[in-house]
This record gives sequence, structure tokens and C-alpha cells, in this order.
Amino acid sequence: MKTPLIRSTLFTTFLATLLVTAGCQSSRQSCCTMSASDRPASAPVQTRESQAVTTPHKALAALKDGNGRFVSGHPLVRNFPAEVKATAAGQFPFAVVLSCLDSRQPIEIVLDQGIGDIFSARVAGNVLNDDILGSMEFACKVVGAKLIAVIGHSNCGAIKGAVDNVELGNLTGLLARIKPAIEQVSAEGQVRNSKDAAFVGKVAEANVRLVMREIRERSPIVREMLDKGQIGLAGGMYDLSTGKIDFYKN
Ligand SMILES: [Zn+2]
Repeated sequence: MKTPLIRSTLFTTFLATLLVTAGCQSSRQSCCTMSASDRPASAPVQTRESQAVTTPHKALAALKDGNGRFVSGHPLVRNFPAEVKATAAGQFPFAVVLSCLDSRQPIEIVLDQGIGDIFSARVAGNVLNDDILGSMEFACKVVGAKLIAVIGHSNCGAIKGAVDNVELGNLTGLLARIKPAIEQVSAEGQVRNSKDAAFVGKVAEANVRLVMREIRERSPIVREMLDKGQIGLAGGMYDLSTGKIDFYKN
């Protein structure tokens, strides 16, 4: 006896679905027609030719422009499956970026870069080690990237852990790499722990600058390329509250 009731309910649901679908399609057609000038620019894929004409200065400008698009909410239009196909045979990234592991700083997104655009090395506290330095040498000397960028960020847990002398498994050794940056920050009027946001910020900047110095000092390959002007080295700080990267002047 329940069958007619079930059939009637199913039919009503089917009819409602049809009506809703038709409504969506009609509103899509009427509301979303854009003229060519309204459409955001689509993203170019890096090629051997585009990499060859990129200078260190242009590479830095591209990162700054990308972050500007991200902050303004107008990133380039991306067709990721097409970018996958276009880059499958080879890669020609214009920069290598070292940044923190932090989930709130996904570096390709905040720089509005797509597949094949940049090399990305991420580790807590954006610290340097031999493997990352070797990766940078590969990126620049072998593949032709024109810029090394080190991007720290505000309110970094790794920096806070280092200033608070946190000890935890393998993290202890990682945080030890940040200690020299802490020593470079003046103690005057500061409590020197993670409760002092200004102090944490100063250590984060000192850490970025320390890593930049270490990249140059510890890699003869990178140093030679820098001295010849073949590549550039830049540093900056990502603000978790605004999405903006403040690139350092020098
Ligand atoms: Zn961090």
C-alpha cells in the first residue's frame, strides 16, 4: 500500500530538481556573459624562450606583481590541466623560492604563480641546509632560474619556538639553525621570548637576512652567478593578516 506514496514523492522530487536545474541554467546565461575586456588575463606558461629573456630584476618584478594580484583578489585565470600538458616535456621556472612550511603561506598561491613557474622549497622557519642549497644550485645552474627568494612570515611558529628554546625530537636541530638570527637582534627593552611580537618579527627578518647571507657564503656556484649578475637574491616577509609580501630593498 506504500508504493503509490513513494512513487508520488519520487516524482515530486524529480520535478523539483528539474525546475531548480533549469533556473540555474537560465540565470547562468543571463548573469555571466562577460565582454573580452571584462575577463581577467589568462596566465602564460613559462617556456625556454620566456626564461631566456627573463632577468633577475624582471623575475623579482614578476613575484611582486603576482603577490599584488593575490592581495587585490584578481589572480590570473588558470587552466591547470592545460598548464600540466604544456609543461610536461620540460620546465623553465624563473625563480626558486624558499619559504616556511606554514599552511597559511602557500607560496605559489600568494605569489599567483602556476605550474612550472617557480621552484618551491618549504621548511619550517625557512631555514637553510645543504639539501636546500643544493636544490637552489640545481634550480639556477642547471635549470636556469634567475632569482633566489627567501620569504619569511609574520607570527612564525618556528621563530617563536626558537626564541622560546623549544626542544622536541628532530625539531630541536631545525630550530638551532634560527638561533644565530636571535643573537643578532638587540635585547634592549625586550623580553626576548615569543610573547613579544615585535621581537619575534625582528628575529624573523634577521633569519631571512641570515639565510640570504648563508646562501651566498656557502655556495660558490650561487656566489659566482650572483657576482656575474646571472641571478638575483631577494628577501621578504609575508604578512599573515594581509596576504602582502614586503620585499626588502636590499
Ligand atoms: Zn613559519
